[in-house]
Amino acid sequence: MNGKRFTEQLLDWYDRNGRDLPWRRDPAPYPVWISEIMAQQTQMERVVEYHARWMARFPTLTDLAGAGEEEVLKLWEGLGYYSRARNIRRAARIIEGEYGGEFPSDVRRIRELPGVGDYTAGAIASIAFGRPVPAVDANVLRVFARLDDVPGPVNKSAVKRSIEERVVSLLPEDRPGDFNQAVMELGALVCSKRPQCSGCPVDSHCLALAQGTVAQRPQLASKAKPIHIDMATGILVHGGKVLVQKRRPDDVWPGLWEFPGGCIERGETPEQALHREFLEEVELAVHPTEKVTVVRYSYTRYRVTMHCFLCRAEGAVSPVFHAATEGRFVPWDGLADFAFPAGHRRLIEFMQRDVRFASFLD
Ligand code: SF4
Repeated sequence: MNGKRFTEQLLDWYDRNGRDLPWRRDPAPYPVWISEIMAQQTQMERVVEYHARWMARFPTLTDLAGAGEEEVLKLWEGLGYYSRARNIRRAARIIEGEYGGEFPSDVRRIRELPGVGDYTAGAIASIAFGRPVPAVDANVLRVFARLDDVPGPVNKSAVKRSIEERVVSLLPEDRPGDFNQAVMELGALVCSKRPQCSGCPVDSHCLALAQGTVAQRPQLASKAKPIHIDMATGILVHGGKVLVQKRRPDDVWPGLWEFPGGCIERGETPEQALHREFLEEVELAVHPTEKVTVVRYSYTRYRVTMHCFLCRAEGAVSPVFHAATEGRFVPWDGLADFAFPAGHRRLIEFMQRDVRFASFLD
């Protein structure tokens, strides 16, 4: 590959075809950082929408550092992987406290911030500060696995390191951030999972295309198998309000709110599991009165099937919270003020659409 020619052709293509994203117009470190964290595991249209809302609410890093966790989680609701939002808030407070509110420009300092990995640190340092450092994400790995016809699995650290070194060798001094973004953009728009080689601006440099191995690149080491979980969740209605509880700091989705419930154990029906879980979690004896729906969702390796019920309680309704930091009865329309994990938020949205619950929700 002629590196200089490759870089020129790639940047020329990027200048004409790169997407006009808000944080690219003025690549200041704070909006670039937020966009990079949001873009992990999230489609770009969604990132643009959430980024605009975020910047309207927290226009500066100081605004973010002064915000409460609950408000930050609420704004993040729907993006998933909530540790990203908590880490953003923690990092903002560190930048305020230790760097006087000035985003650090050194890639090693950026890398030390909570929630910032090698890729994100490289992206911020190169895009916002013009530092000649690589930013290698899954897109970049895929592109270079094809350009250089790399036979090894790109999710192994030795192969990833060699691709990082390759990127460093190509970074132009004057536009390292644009180069990194151009490779990512090529991976997103052209050299995607199903590559459009006929429209590729750098096809003449591509070894996999020349050798007919595009379909075999990139190689991936096999991943762990998904784990399936069945759960039961109950919407307990009392006095026109529903019971919600806040998850503990050491739990999955810490700080988010949920309806009580839990895993269905071997030999249990969903209804039996719900009864047991309410006794264990809130010391209430409840009975399902109606099956609402089944919600299916995924997080990390887990594939969850959540059986959802309306339920009523026997006797006095005074919950004691054993699996949560706090809990309360909330009017249905007040749920909009709380941040829920994706599965519970989908349950709420389902009930809002289903005519069976129209009178219940009034
Ligand atoms: Fe990717 Fe095809 Fe371009 Fe090679 S020619 S870099 S495989 S899009």
